[in-house]
Amino acid sequence: MGSSNTDSGSADKALDDIYDDYQQWELNTGGETIHAKRVSGFWRNLKWLTGSTWLLFFLGYFVRWGDRQAVFFDIGNRQFHIFNFTILPQDFWMLSLLLLFFALLLAASTALFGRVYCGFFCFQTIWTDVYTWIEEKLEGAPAKRRKIDKAKMDFTKFRIKFVKHALWLIIGFVTGVSFVAWFYDGIQLWKDIFSFQVGSTAIITISMFTVGTYVLAGFLREQTCFWLCPYARIQAVMIDTTSAVVTYDFHRGEPRGRIKKGQSEEERTTGDCVECLQCIAVCPTGVDIRHGSQEGCINCALCIDACDAVMKKINRPTGLIRYESLDEIEGKEARSLFKRPRVWIYGAIMSLALLGIAYGLSTIDAIELKVLHDRQPLFVLQSDGSIQNKYILKILNKIDKDVSVTISATGPEGLKIIGADKPVKAHHGKINPHTVFVRVPGENLTAETEPIVFRIDTVATGKEIFFSDRESIFIGPRR
Ligand code: SF4
Ligand code: SF4
Repeated sequence: MGSSNTDSGSADKALDDIYDDYQQWELNTGGETIHAKRVSGFWRNLKWLTGSTWLLFFLGYFVRWGDRQAVFFDIGNRQFHIFNFTILPQDFWMLSLLLLFFALLLAASTALFGRVYCGFFCFQTIWTDVYTWIEEKLEGAPAKRRKIDKAKMDFTKFRIKFVKHALWLIIGFVTGVSFVAWFYDGIQLWKDIFSFQVGSTAIITISMFTVGTYVLAGFLREQTCFWLCPYARIQAVMIDTTSAVVTYDFHRGEPRGRIKKGQSEEERTTGDCVECLQCIAVCPTGVDIRHGSQEGCINCALCIDACDAVMKKINRPTGLIRYESLDEIEGKEARSLFKRPRVWIYGAIMSLALLGIAYGLSTIDAIELKVLHDRQPLFVLQSDGSIQNKYILKILNKIDKDVSVTISATGPEGLKIIGADKPVKAHHGKINPHTVFVRVPGENLTAETEPIVFRIDTVATGKEIFFSDRESIFIGPRR
């Protein structure tokens, strides 16, 4: 008997906990700021973990490679450095393939798991999460925040709001600096900032990012997802009833109804949803997932954590809200990956894009040679009977420093190159044109055109010597 009283006492306490936060929520049209409650749980931890990949954005530009930044988008010299690779404009097709890969990765992940990118990786939702975390640390739980919002301005409110907005602006500023750093040389940028020597382009870009981040993550928050994000509009065509999305199991939950204190399991006629509204209280976009899949849901799964916590308190199985497809909720068998052509097509194109990038990187040359045969005139007959052709050699230097190259050629017997007796300077990141003349004794030519191969070799400045060769033709008189 004593034990049963204790059980019902703790059950009533659990109900008090659950219903304490009860509020009537309305459709989120942006009229009021959403102050979402924070719950702990598996999905909350996963969100922190995936969101922390953005630390790469803030810290990655400090990684050095030799005397420069390891990943450096050098817009001024129109070249991208990625560790050992230097990508020049003629190799930009690889960046296009990379963009294609990520676009299709987004499409494939949406087809499989809905807006999982929005919930766990998108900079808008991650930054908003950090901004609201700061807000909670300074202003307290949602009810207290709403109270502070409505209270008249006094010194305490001013102090709290001032600190909050200052921290938000600092994060916005660091975001702007981090963005510019990838194009500037990050360490130099910080030095220039502290010595007030930053150029106007960097100042404008950093200012735009500071204000943009502050407004989007601090004020607009979920409204950005509702009204500004184009992906929210098109995701509906990428998912279907087989996509695993955050879903409320209405078969199990309905008819929903609150538990009364002291009510036994046998007396209950309602489903597992106890109408506590915790799932809405934690939702950063203010969505009621029990109304079904909807545009405002970013699939962050925080409502799963909230509902699971409630289910544990009332001794019901967890998973009333869970990641599952509508088909499975309806009792149909999950469609296997093999029977989803869309995902296969996305996967095939992504694999091709990756193969293309791998091919491009493996065949990227440190120096490249192009040979243009001068057409006017095609050849010149010299007074000693030899035939002369003129060529413009275009030497592309992708090494991250200037080098000297020697020029040689093989072809008809007795050929001589004029203009290649000394090494030629090839400036890094540039196409360096150089004109040479090739002379061949007339009697050594057996045909009107004969093949000739030019070759350039870097003059050793370190351990590695690079070379490139290119075939062209030597033209003589008709035979
Ligand atoms: S779905 Fe879960 S969290 Fe939401 S109201 Fe029902 S019981 Fe509460
Ligand atoms: S309904 Fe759930 S999954 Fe969707 S945004 Fe809200 S908390 Fe995240």
